[in-house]
Amino acid sequence: MKVKIRKGDTVEVIAGRDKYKRGEVIKVLPNERRVVVQGVNIRKKHQSEIQAQGRNLQPGIIEFEAPIDISNVMLVCPSCDEPTRVKIQREIDRVARICKKCGSEIA
Ligand SMILES: [Zn+2]
Repeated sequence: MKVKIRKGDTVEVIAGRDKYKRGEVIKVLPNERRVVVQGVNIRKKHQSEIQAQGRNLQPGIIEFEAPIDISNVMLVCPSCDEPTRVKIQREIDRVARICKKCGSEIA
């Protein structure tokens, strides 16, 4: 199955701890079928002071977004502002994603 979600899309979480949260996709991991969504699935990591590329990073708690399964998010249509399924429409030079709710193309 093709991944229909792209970097920069807005998605809504439909399952799990962050259900109903929306955010922008900041990374797509197609091989793992996972996405990283801004502000979703926040994990905290304790970081001791380390040296990286000559800089000292401050020790403390680092918050970062962990990847979540792509089946747990739905693309939000920018036209109707609803989480929706998309229909793939093949055109000569590109593939268009069409919102199944309102029929608009999702850029
Ligand atoms: Zn729509």
